[in-house]
Amino acid sequence: MSATPALHWFCGGNPVWALPYGEAPADLFLSLDSDARPWVVTRLLGQYLRDGDGQTLSSETLWSWNLTRRLQGLLGVTAASLDRHQVVEARCGNADCGEGLDLELDLADFCCLEAPATIDFETRDGQVVRLRVPTGTDQLGWLEHWSFQLPEWSDLVATLVETVNEAPPAPSWRPEPDWLEALSAALAEADPLTDLALETDCIECGQATTVALDLEGYVLERLRHRQAHLFDQVHAIASTYHWSEAEIMSLPAERRHAYLRRVDGEESW
Ligand SMILES: [Zn+2]
Repeated sequence: MSATPALHWFCGGNPVWALPYGEAPADLFLSLDSDARPWVVTRLLGQYLRDGDGQTLSSETLWSWNLTRRLQGLLGVTAASLDRHQVVEARCGNADCGEGLDLELDLADFCCLEAPATIDFETRDGQVVRLRVPTGTDQLGWLEHWSFQLPEWSDLVATLVETVNEAPPAPSWRPEPDWLEALSAALAEADPLTDLALETDCIECGQATTVALDLEGYVLERLRHRQAHLFDQVHAIASTYHWSEAEIMSLPAERRHAYLRRVDGEESW
């Protein structure tokens, strides 16, 4: 197996290049567990995503992206590192069934969506509330503000409100509780990847079912497996040749794989 080349991908409607994760020495040291997810995603995108000209993207840029665009970048890194075709294990949600389902996903299918920067929500009494579709910066603000407790829904939504009837809201302004359902639905429609709902037919009961998928959590878990696989490779070579971690990781990926084939007892040629 040779190193995977950079993958041409789309992110927020713009072309980008995604680099494979799990082949280079630095990949062994990238922490995927020690921080909250938004930090992990920004770190991964900063290291493994390039703009259309092949340039690194600054962390300021990556934080400013909406959640759909950040997730599209992460899907690109996953596709470059593993495969754009993934099989997700889920369960049928219909009563009395609960059969296991294998959902086949093509990560490239999620690249063409473009989330708007803002949405206008009209209340029953005729007010127009303009909300920002959440960005990485919003996530960062929520993490800093509510590090020890879960936020009230109305407090969280208030951080996204830009105007009410075209004027900036007072700091104490909060959405009415009975707006919750419609407002949440409007935000979810603008940012459908964050809480993805996949429609499928269950083979067992023959009924349609909807599977809720945390796509970001799923691909981060796949990348953690990729890193665990890299540790396995180092362990296998170190156990046989007694080289240090630094020596093993300084080998080009193709030579590392050539040694691994011999460790596994495969033919040398
Ligand atoms: Zn079923």
